[in-house]
Amino acid sequence: MKVKPKKSLGQNFLINPEIIEKIVDCGNLNYIDNIVEIGPGTGNLTKELIRKNSRNLFVIEKDENLCNLLVKKFNNTLKVINDDVLNFKLDRLNCTNLVIFGNLPYNISTQILVNWILYDYNFIHIKKLVLMFQKEVADRILGNVNEKNYGRLSIIANWKLKIQKEFDIESADFYPKPKVTSTLISMIPKKNFIKITNPEKLEEITSIFFNQRRKMIKKPLNKIFPNSNIIAEKLNIDTNLRPQNLKPEIYFELAEILNKSDS
Ligand code: SAH
Repeated sequence: MKVKPKKSLGQNFLINPEIIEKIVDCGNLNYIDNIVEIGPGTGNLTKELIRKNSRNLFVIEKDENLCNLLVKKFNNTLKVINDDVLNFKLDRLNCTNLVIFGNLPYNISTQILVNWILYDYNFIHIKKLVLMFQKEVADRILGNVNEKNYGRLSIIANWKLKIQKEFDIESADFYPKPKVTSTLISMIPKKNFIKITNPEKLEEITSIFFNQRRKMIKKPLNKIFPNSNIIAEKLNIDTNLRPQNLKPEIYFELAEILNKSDS
């Protein structure tokens, strides 16, 4: 069956077998793992996942035609779920030891990641995530405090994940070629992460601070908290700093304080 890639679904299929093998290696798969692939497309990465570990493989694909193709191609070696990953809760799989792979559609990649981190209770069942992003987005996930790329995404990702850059992937390794370079990142959930009662507040705090990333933090602090001086003192922060100078832990604490002051 010939497949015409759909731009609207971000369909850029991996075609370089060496790269595909390297991606699968990043999962460090072993026999107890349950594997989930997001956006399997025509199954190029899927094929390699089956070769390495076919015990329990789920694929989540929005395109119904591709789902039919995958069922034909791989028969019963995998479970094909025809759904939008943005509406998909991991608990539906009813599995632990999840290793998640995804050559994600770039227009929704950050939304998928943020949704899982902030709102999916079954996140604790993830052992590892191996995800591909547009390089610029990966750089923002990987950004450290005081760096240009540090911001909302780095803070949210850092809350529950240990993040590691694997490698860049050139556009020539895909069909059709995307306009951008891609980066593969692997992430391991932290066993002990700081408690944030209402994760929405972390989104709120970081969006207010980083909407004006060049301004001193006095401004957003005053905007959010009537008693901003007391809070700055309590957290021992200099209000002349810029948002990118505050460590992730400060934002986690501010999210908690905001939650208490709103309730
Ligand atoms: N992993 C494949 C294809 C990557 S292209 C490969 O490397 O060859 C991205 C894939 O994500 C496409 O198959 C596309 O149909 C699928 N997709 C796009 N939006 C999606 C969504 N919201 N939920 C699930 N899959 C989606």
